[in-house]
Amino acid sequence: QRRIGIMTSGGDAPGMNGAVRAVVRMSIFMGCEAYAIYEGYEGLVQGGSLIKQMHWDDVRGYLSEGGTLIGTARCKAFMERPGRLQGAKHMVMAGIDALVICGGDGSLTGADKFRKEWPGLLDELVAKKELTAEQKRTYQHLNIVGLVGSIDNDMSSTDATIGCYSSLARICEAIDCIDATAESHQRAFVIEVMGRHCGWLALMAGVSTSADFIFIPEKPPSENWEAEMCSIIRRHREMGKRKTIVIVAEGAHDLALRKVTPTRVKDLLSNDLKLDTRITTLGHVQRGGRPCAYDRMLSTLQGVEAVRAVLNATPDTPSPVICVIENKIVRKPLLKAVEDTLEVAKAIEAKDFSRAMHLRDAE
Ligand code: ADP
Repeated sequence: QRRIGIMTSGGDAPGMNGAVRAVVRMSIFMGCEAYAIYEGYEGLVQGGSLIKQMHWDDVRGYLSEGGTLIGTARCKAFMERPGRLQGAKHMVMAGIDALVICGGDGSLTGADKFRKEWPGLLDELVAKKELTAEQKRTYQHLNIVGLVGSIDNDMSSTDATIGCYSSLARICEAIDCIDATAESHQRAFVIEVMGRHCGWLALMAGVSTSADFIFIPEKPPSENWEAEMCSIIRRHREMGKRKTIVIVAEGAHDLALRKVTPTRVKDLLSNDLKLDTRITTLGHVQRGGRPCAYDRMLSTLQGVEAVRAVLNATPDTPSPVICVIENKIVRKPLLKAVEDTLEVAKAIEAKDFSRAMHLRDAE
């Protein structure tokens, strides 16, 4: 009987619980046993009570809960081989030879590395007499399947990551709240939105709330962005708009291209346009709360597909990541998806925007 592990890792995202529930229940439905690895890779490294069999009832109510109920962590030990060696030992001891990981590009990179090293790790454990040759033979192949859980929607090869639409909905709700007070006092707000290297949340939040101006990391501001922004906002005000919303993506702030920072934008609005301006950094409200219907659906369909991918895998199949492309749930090679994602991030960091856009278009 196969034993399939499920883990959430990296930054939490709404919908991760739905993925855990789907993997647990589909595993049981297919006649396998399901194991939750608690606290991300920390659970593999430490083993013991952090690896726990999950029954059908254990995931009841998971679908509508925010965050991740089996915990997540950033685990330094797993970045090093000795940590992964411990992880391999604990997996074999628990009889698990397939792992579904719901996380971001970092977590999925770690997973692929783990699979590549797996035979060598088992050899080392046998040499150290921590495992028997028989155990090595039984568990010689490790299956890895990735699910992309991230609010940032920053993964190549998929149209949406689990969590991004819940986060977008939360951001829109928060901006609606700010809108009401801004409109009452005729104020301007500069709102910083999460997303790491990716401007998707900021751009879509801007579109969905009719923001006056948006800064995203993928598109550098023009040379005369100050004059351009002020003239647009002045025009909006002349047309009778009583509030002003400027959205700055976290990634745009970090790059501070042409000195775009929330403070600089606020100073311009205050000094040049004489608007009473406040800065609001939305922060972790963007991560929390109940997953929206789309994320419940996506995490469920993808969790089911992840178990199918485990059961169809052969030793030569490259590790897949479960994606959604044009509304279809599909498998893509995990390593390529991670590599493409890192390429875009690198291009943005190097301020090579045309390359970043070209890579995104090519997806
Ligand atoms: P995310 O998955 O959201 O991108 P991180 O990049 O923080 O988040 O990765 C989460 C965890 O995955 C790390 O704390 C570490 O345990 C593991 N990990 C990330 N990158 C690697 C790597 N290159 N090798 C091994 N493990 C990694």
